[in-house]
Amino acid sequence: MSNSLRRTQPLPDLDDFEELQSPSSTLLSELGAVEMFQTPESPTPSGTLRRNTASDTPGPSFAELIGTEIVHFLIGPQRIELTAHKNLVCNASTVLKRMLDSNARRDEYFLDSNELFLPESAHLAVRDFITLLYRDRKEVVALSHSRSYKDYVELYLFGSKFGVNTLMDIAIDGIQDQLRETRKSLTNEDIENIFANTARDDQLRRFCAALITHELLRHKNRTPSEVHALMVKVPDLLKQYLIYQHTESPEPPIVPTYHNMGNDPRDRVRDRVSGHGFHVCAFHIHDMLEECLTAPNC
Ligand SMILES: [Zn+2]
Repeated sequence: MSNSLRRTQPLPDLDDFEELQSPSSTLLSELGAVEMFQTPESPTPSGTLRRNTASDTPGPSFAELIGTEIVHFLIGPQRIELTAHKNLVCNASTVLKRMLDSNARRDEYFLDSNELFLPESAHLAVRDFITLLYRDRKEVVALSHSRSYKDYVELYLFGSKFGVNTLMDIAIDGIQDQLRETRKSLTNEDIENIFANTARDDQLRRFCAALITHELLRHKNRTPSEVHALMVKVPDLLKQYLIYQHTESPEPPIVPTYHNMGNDPRDRVRDRVSGHGFHVCAFHIHDMLEECLTAPNC
């Protein structure tokens, strides 16, 4: 790759980490940010990327743990470059770890010596991913606050493709908030895009099924013939819609979705007696035993 084609954005400096430390903490405590967004299926991090316990013998320094290998994300035709430490990337995404370890070819991405090519549409998502690696979820939420729902769809698809659940949870909240605030719905093109880039039983697919149900039964801004035409085009939508009708029964709530039939999935509520909307966690990926950091939006 010719350097002239790259627009490089600087790698966060190790000094930045030190600024984040409270005087009493150690550099190792920053690894909490790594642990928080590991997917449930993630294996125990390879090597020693783990917070030491009191019984541990003194381990390597943070600088040693984070390593020196760098992943280069090259984005769009101009090859705008964003970078991150490989150890952090691999701990956050087992999918990326596999790709980087094997130099595998995958879809539109081609890896060569820790270089990953991504389409222009992934630019904001890569920035959010790197913010999550070096900062935390809260900062990603703050940085993405004024985005459009389409940007959040892109973030969700990035998280889904690379198995970064925290990004998917942030994105689904953003989609709900933006659609609700702007009184918009997903377009047919959005739904086609979502179904083309997600797997069966995906949470955003469930959200699409819930939204279509709401718009058919309550809001009535989609007609049966329009929905039928869309389902002919996107057969998996019909499947997801039928699964949704079958599983989203009021009792017993296997997942905290309450009595949702026809409720508006853009409304996030925490209180069962509210009688509308969906529980804040209804479309989240995180472990249900984990504390949910999302607030209701109505
Ligand atoms: Zn949640």
